[in-house]
Amino acid sequence: MAIALRTLDDGAWISVDDSRRVSVSDVWTLSRGVFCECEPAYVLLEGFFGTGVDGSVVVADAVGQCLECGTRDSIDRLPVGRIVDGEFKPYGPEAVQSTLEVGADRQT
Ligand SMILES: [Zn+2]
Repeated sequence: MAIALRTLDDGAWISVDDSRRVSVSDVWTLSRGVFCECEPAYVLLEGFFGTGVDGSVVVADAVGQCLECGTRDSIDRLPVGRIVDGEFKPYGPEAVQSTLEVGADRQT
């Protein structure tokens, strides 16, 4: 199961198997203060600077800005989708809340 993951266009897209699948410029809902003090935080992504696979979950390192409080920071390992039977299934930006708890757990 080899999935080719890349960032393209100066971090505007994550490419999965040579097709553009995940775009910045979406607002992602991040829960539990993983990004800033807002719960949830509505974070406008500005760019991806890395991507990878964590188990079957495709994660991305990104820079974003909270629409509420203005915090601008990087997000490590934001889950953007998963690999199911060798196919990429993107998470919708609004569906990320529960999955992001993977990252939140590392803070405890
Ligand atoms: Zn905020």
